Amino acid sequence: MKAEIIAVGTELLLGQIVNTNAQYLSQKLAALGVDVYFQTVVGDNAHRLREAIEIGRSRADLLVFTGGLGPTQDDLTKDVLAEYLNRKLVIHEPTMAIIEEMFSSRGIYMAPSNRRQALMIEDTDPLDNKAGLAVGNGVSVDGTLYLLLPGPPKEMKPMMDEAGEAWLRSKLGEAQPLFSRLLKFAGIGESNLEAKLLHLIEGQSDPTIAPYAKESEVTIRISTKAATAAEADRKIDETAAKIKECAGEYLYAEQDIPIEVEIIRLLRGSQRKLASAESLSGGLFAQLITNVPGSSGEFVGGVVTYTNGMKHHLLGIPISQLEGKDAPGAISDTTAALMAERVRELSNADFGVSLTGVAGPAESEGKPVGLVYAAIAERGKPTVVHTMNLHGDRSSIRMRAVKSALYRLWLSLRTE
Ligand code: ATP
Repeated sequence: MKAEIIAVGTELLLGQIVNTNAQYLSQKLAALGVDVYFQTVVGDNAHRLREAIEIGRSRADLLVFTGGLGPTQDDLTKDVLAEYLNRKLVIHEPTMAIIEEMFSSRGIYMAPSNRRQALMIEDTDPLDNKAGLAVGNGVSVDGTLYLLLPGPPKEMKPMMDEAGEAWLRSKLGEAQPLFSRLLKFAGIGESNLEAKLLHLIEGQSDPTIAPYAKESEVTIRISTKAATAAEADRKIDETAAKIKECAGEYLYAEQDIPIEVEIIRLLRGSQRKLASAESLSGGLFAQLITNVPGSSGEFVGGVVTYTNGMKHHLLGIPISQLEGKDAPGAISDTTAALMAERVRELSNADFGVSLTGVAGPAESEGKPVGLVYAAIAERGKPTVVHTMNLHGDRSSIRMRAVKSALYRLWLSLRTE
């Protein structure tokens, strides 16, 4: 079954509201085993809505509409579809009774237009609206299904979850639901990961493998249709095992969590503590770590030592290390190492992580934009400094630097 979602509303086209209904419905339909091939947005205009219906019918078996079921003259969805199908609109009496009761119990005048919310296409199925007044409609004509849902998400979701889903299931027969698993990778870019998995991605049919990148993390979604969750798990396990063979060293989780959650879990498991000293990232490392609920058990704290003065006063880094003709400078591997070591010692943590570098837009200390040092000082082990040459604007360099430091920390925790 191929579906198209048609969101109706001029405010969507004007950018006044975001089409969250389409996102919700796409996820819902995928879970029901229905393939969504198109999402359309059309304004409150009878001619263009009819055009959207004609196009939709030519390429989908199911058209799911949201919006335009309300009482006003610009709520046109039912009228236009009825006219297109050459069917009459009739009053759904139980809905009409609810609307009349709502107005009379509040003692307010009911404008005749409110009757429009009780309209449905004749000889079709009404769908209960438990969170509002306008009745939904399930319509099956000449092999095409039309599902009419209200626009407001707080009405659309409950209707879709109950009456809409039940109606669809009764029409779908045995379509198999879609199951997905997310694999999360760090320390590798999307294109490099794709290159490693290309032979798997190109040869895929079932399960499918789809990579996508967001905020310095790469995600692979493995999806398959199956009758049961156990059968899907078996198929997904096989594909995941092949992916792990090629890129297992970058895989930090088999669920949708950021790497810092996994780091806190590993620290907790080994009862160890973490502290940070940041320069270029201005506290972003500490922010991501403290986003994890309960991280106070593992993260003792962090300092932002942005100026040389603070690096000296707070962390005790000698001025001769930071300033002077022959000094390595604040942006150097040795300063990164000292920052990580000092913050670890000061806080008595097991790990000290530091970040120093040039976020841009201008170079600093004669060092280029994107040069970043991240150090990991671990109790009882030699300090390791990672040198990076990162690309992007100021905020992406800072985020990439932090994510990369997190990846290195995760590696040291994992390999122990
Ligand atoms: P109403 O009875 O409120 O008129 P309706 O079914 O006619 O409901 P619309 O008038 O099209 O729906 O939209 C009502 C409100 O619902 C919009 O102002 C907007 O806040 C929200 N809405 C509509 N469509 C969407 C959508 N696709 N995604 C998110 N919100 C939406």
